[in-house]
Amino acid sequence: MGKSDNWTISDAENLYGVKRWSGGYFEIGANGNMHVTPDANNAEMRIDFKEVINEIKAEGIQFPVVLRFHDILRSQVALLNETFIKTIEEADYQGLYRGVYPVKVNQMREVVEEIVDAGQKYNYGLEAGSKAELLTVMAYNINPEALTILNGYKDEEFVRLSLLARKLGRKVIVVIEKFSELLMLVKIAKELDIEPIIGLRSKMTVKGRGKWEGSGGDRAKFGLTITEIINAARYLETEGMGHCFKLLHFHIGSQLTDIRAVKEAISEGAMIYSELHHLGFPLEYVDVGGGLGVDYDGSKSTNDSSMNYSIQEYVADVVFGMKEVCDLEKVPHPTLISESGRAITAHHSCVVAEIVGEIRADSSKMETTAVEGEHILVSNMRYVSLSVEKQDNLQEIFNDATDYKEQAMSAFKLRVIGLEELAKIETLYWQIMEQLQLRLRSAEFIPEDMQELEFDLSSQYLCNFSVFQSAADTWAIDQVLPILPLTRMNERPNVNCSLVDITCDSDGKIDQFVLEKGISDVLPMHNLKAGEDYHLGMFLTGAYQDVMGDMHNLFGRLNEVHIYSHDDDPLDFYIEEVVTGSSVDDVLSIMQYHPNSMAKEVKKSIDAKIAQGEMRPREGVKWTDFYEDCLKGYTYLKTNK
Ligand SMILES: *Cc1c(COP(=O)(O)O)cnc(C)c1O
Repeated sequence: MGKSDNWTISDAENLYGVKRWSGGYFEIGANGNMHVTPDANNAEMRIDFKEVINEIKAEGIQFPVVLRFHDILRSQVALLNETFIKTIEEADYQGLYRGVYPVKVNQMREVVEEIVDAGQKYNYGLEAGSKAELLTVMAYNINPEALTILNGYKDEEFVRLSLLARKLGRKVIVVIEKFSELLMLVKIAKELDIEPIIGLRSKMTVKGRGKWEGSGGDRAKFGLTITEIINAARYLETEGMGHCFKLLHFHIGSQLTDIRAVKEAISEGAMIYSELHHLGFPLEYVDVGGGLGVDYDGSKSTNDSSMNYSIQEYVADVVFGMKEVCDLEKVPHPTLISESGRAITAHHSCVVAEIVGEIRADSSKMETTAVEGEHILVSNMRYVSLSVEKQDNLQEIFNDATDYKEQAMSAFKLRVIGLEELAKIETLYWQIMEQLQLRLRSAEFIPEDMQELEFDLSSQYLCNFSVFQSAADTWAIDQVLPILPLTRMNERPNVNCSLVDITCDSDGKIDQFVLEKGISDVLPMHNLKAGEDYHLGMFLTGAYQDVMGDMHNLFGRLNEVHIYSHDDDPLDFYIEEVVTGSSVDDVLSIMQYHPNSMAKEVKKSIDAKIAQGEMRPREGVKWTDFYEDCLKGYTYLKTNK
C-alpha cells in the first residue's frame, strides 16, 4: 500500500490530466502535493498547496476558503496583451489593441485593483454593464489612455455619470444597446455640453455555440439591427454628432467553444465596419466583445466546458481576420478591443474544502455466518456469495443476487422474514457486488446491467462546502470544474467517490469530474485516515463562480486568502490579506433578521430557567455566550480541533 505500491505521480497525471486544463499554472509536485507556479515568467516560483493549507490552519482561518493567486491574474493580463501586441506586429496590422476587463466576471475589489495595476503598462481598461459597475469603474480606471466601455441598458443617471467621466478626461465609450438610449444620450450631452464617444452594438447573425448562444442571432436581447445602425449613424449626423460615433461593438456569447464562430463573427463585424466607412463613418474602434473560452475539462473540444482553440489562435483570428477584410475593402485597420473576462480570471482562484465524512451503501455490516433454522433466502444468498470465486458467468451471479434481494424485500413486507434477516441478506448482497466489481475491473466487456456497479458502490465524500455558494454553475448549467485531492498524489487513489455538500438539498452534489480519459461520474480519491485531514481543490473558479454564489441554507461567502509569490521566502509565498467570509449574523441580517434581538430573546429564555432554579447562573452565562459566539461565527462546519 501507499508508497511501496508501484504508483507514481506520473500515474496520477495520467489519471487526472492536470496539465490539460492547468494553463501551465498547476501541477502534481514530486512530493505528491499539488503545486502552483503562479508566475508565467518565473518557473522557479513554486508554491506547495500543503504549505498553504498548513499556514491557513496555523493562522486559525477556517475552511472552506477561496485561495486567490494574484500572480496568476497578472500573468493572464500580460498573456492576453502581449499576445495581441505580438500578433499585431507579425500581421503588420496598423491599429492597436486596447482591451478592457468586464468587471461583471469578478467584481471583487482586490481582483479589479490587481487587473488595473497589471494592465497599466498596456493601457488596459475596464468594462461596465450596470450603474453600480460604472460607479466602480469611474473610481478605478483613472488612466486617461485606457478605455472605459459601457454596455448594458442605461437610464438617465447612467448617461449623466458617463458624461461626467468624459468631463474628467476619461476615454469613456457609451455603447448603445437600443435606439431610445441614443435619443437620451444626445439630449443630455447637448444639455451638459459634453461630447460623448459613442459605440453602437450590432446584433449579429452569427451565433456563438454552447451555453450562451442566445447572445447572437435575430432574437438576441441586445444590439441594433443593420437598419438601426445606419439610422442611428444618420441621426447622429443630423444632430451634428456624426463624428462622435467611433466604435462598432459585438458580443456573440461567453465561452465560445468553437473557433469557427469567432472567425464568422470577425468577418461579419469587419464587413459592417468597412461598409460604415464607405458610408462616411470612419470609426476608430472595433470591439469584439467577450467569448474567449477556458478549457475547463482539458479536452480541447467543442464540449460546453471546453474550447477547440488556444488564446494565440483566438487572437490571430481576430487580428488577421480584421486585416484581411479591411485590406480588401481598402479601409484603415481599426484599434481592436476585446472584453475578455473569463480567460483573465478563471485560473486565479480555487476553493479548498475539507472532506469531513464518507457515506456508503455498504458501509455497515452484519455478522452473516449460518445459524440454525435460518430462512432459505439467507442461505441462498450465502451460497451465491461463496460461489463468486468459482463461477465464470458474472451475469448469472448478478442476476441471482439481485433476484434474491428483491425476493427478500417482498418476504419482509409479508412478514416472512424479520429485520435482522433482511439486514444479513443486504450485507451478503453488497459483499457479492464488491467481489463482482473487482472481477469486472479486469474484464474486457462489462454487461449493461453491471455498468452502474462502479457508481453504486462508490462512496460519497461529504465535503464541507456548499455547491450553491462555491460552484453555482455546476448546479445551474452543468458547468464542469476540475476537482482533485491536493495531497497524496503519490499514493494510488483507492476509493471512487462522488461529492456531496453540507446543504440539505439533494442537488447539493457534484458527480461530474474531469479525468484524463474524459468526464467521469466518480472521482478516484484516497481513503480517509483517522486523525489526518484531507483537502480537495476545486479549480478554475475565478470567473463568475466566485461572485455568483447564493446563500442556500444560509451558508455564506467563504473566507478568502490572498496569496502573492515571493522569491526570498523559503516557501515562495506569503499571505498578503485574509478577507473574512460571512458570519452567521451577516447572512441573517441580509435576510432581515436582527441578530442582537435574537440573542436577547434566547438570553431571556435562559434567564427564565435560572429564575426557576432549573439552570445554575454560571451555566446560564456560558450558554448565553455560546449562542452569541455561534452567531458571530462562520457559517460552515467547524472542523479545527
Ligand atoms: C459577459 C460579457 C463579457 C465577458 O465575456 P467573457 O466570455 O467572460 O469574456 C464581455 N462583453 C459583454 C457585453 C458581456 O456581456
